[in-house]
Formats: sequence, C-alpha cells, structure tokens
Amino acid sequence: MKKYIFGNMKMNMTLKDIEIYIEKFLPLVSASRNEVAIFPSFVNLMFAKQKLTASKVLLGAQNVYSEPYGAYTGEVSAEMLKAVGVSYVIIGHSERRKLFLEKNDAINTKIKQSLGQGLKVVLCVGETKYERQSKKFKQVLEREISEALRGLYENELKNIIIAYEPIWSIGTGKLPTQKEVEQVSGIIRNEIKQEYSETASKNIKILYGGSINSQNAKTFSSIPGINGLLVGGASLVAEEFAKIANV
Ligand code: PEP
Repeated sequence: MKKYIFGNMKMNMTLKDIEIYIEKFLPLVSASRNEVAIFPSFVNLMFAKQKLTASKVLLGAQNVYSEPYGAYTGEVSAEMLKAVGVSYVIIGHSERRKLFLEKNDAINTKIKQSLGQGLKVVLCVGETKYERQSKKFKQVLEREISEALRGLYENELKNIIIAYEPIWSIGTGKLPTQKEVEQVSGIIRNEIKQEYSETASKNIKILYGGSINSQNAKTFSSIPGINGLLVGGASLVAEEFAKIANV
C-alpha cells in the first residue's frame, strides 16, 4: 500500500544545496510507489517547486502563520504557500512548540487557515521523555489532538495527516519499540473515534517520526496503523532519503 514519506529539512540547505539535492534525488525516486514530499525552508520553496515540476515529488512548508494577511512582520500566510505550489504544511512540530512557544490554540488556527487555502496539513504530536516515563503520554496526545482539531468537520480530516513524533526520539537516535508506536496509533485512532466516528478513525493517516534512517525505515513504516514516516536529519542526504522514500 502507498506510504507517505515526508522529509522535514528544517533550517538547512541554501538554494545551491537544494538544486544539487533535487537533481540527485529525483532520478532515485522516480519509481517510488509512495507519496513523497520534501519540506525545504520558505526561501527555497519557489525554486524547489520549479525543479520538482516534472516529477511526482510534492512540496511542503515547515510552518505557516495563523492570520490570512496583514501587519505580521516576518510571517508567511497559507495563501502565499498555496500560490507557490505547496501541497502540505507541517503544523505543531515540537521544535515550534518548544522554541517558539506555539500553543494548541495557535496550531488550531493555523490548521484552519491552511485547510481554507486548500493545503494539506501534517499535524505533529508527541510526548516528552518525562511524559512518557510518568505515563502521562496518552493524556498529552489526546489533548494535543482534540485542541488542534477543535471546530473542524469530519470531512476536513481527509486533508489532515497526524505525525506521531515522540520528542525524546527526534534527532537522538533513540527509538520507541514497534509495540509502543502501534499503541500510540491506537490512542490516536481512538481519540479520532471519540471526537468524530469509527470511519474517521479508520481513515485518518498516521505517520511515525523520530530518528528514522534507511536501516529502520522499512520496519517503522510497516507497523500496523502507521501509514508512513516523517523524516528529519536523514532527509538531508539525497541518497539516504531516496532509500527511505522507496520503502
Ligand atoms: C523531525 O524533527 O521531524 C524528525 C523526525 O527528526 P529526526 O528524523 O532527525 O529525528
């Protein structure tokens, strides 16, 4: 079955780097059956879109602002992203929650702005090490999901993918067990069932993210209830991310 393989490039790569990357990457993934997307920084989006035009690889943004336009110096709107050919936007990444103090309310507004412009959303949720050890993670995940999705209709969920990214696994090389990921997929699906319906719970797409590389990609993308991967560090090397994209 088709998997969703997304590369969050974070604040890495200049225009030249992106050019070299895409030229290497595209021929390596031309036969992939998966939905593959790269998420470069804002300034590289337009150029990346031109380079991706003849391929099936999609373009994503790493963030978006919660207002449609106006006096918000330094911010980028959903309409602007749509206009340059962005398909997906990551919202609620743990780095934004921690470093930029993004709260569930703002995440909810960002989701609404993005859906309103026809963008698809990758909503990131995940617990800290402390929350996992103290068994609070279920509560944390349920709250992140219910507050992020507040006021959204069931038919809008088809444009939302939930990425489970345990914060303690991001960039650390520490992985949860397959059972733990499967359990979280169950928690997420159950939360969607409570808030929406059994059908919505079955249909929602869930990605795993945290310390994925070409060695473990197959295992983690095949966990029951998991529809693909959100990859950080390993998406920065074209050959490595291509192997993951071809799982
Ligand atoms: C991420 O930050 O979304 C991520 C999954 O990072 P990494 O793959 O580097 O752990």
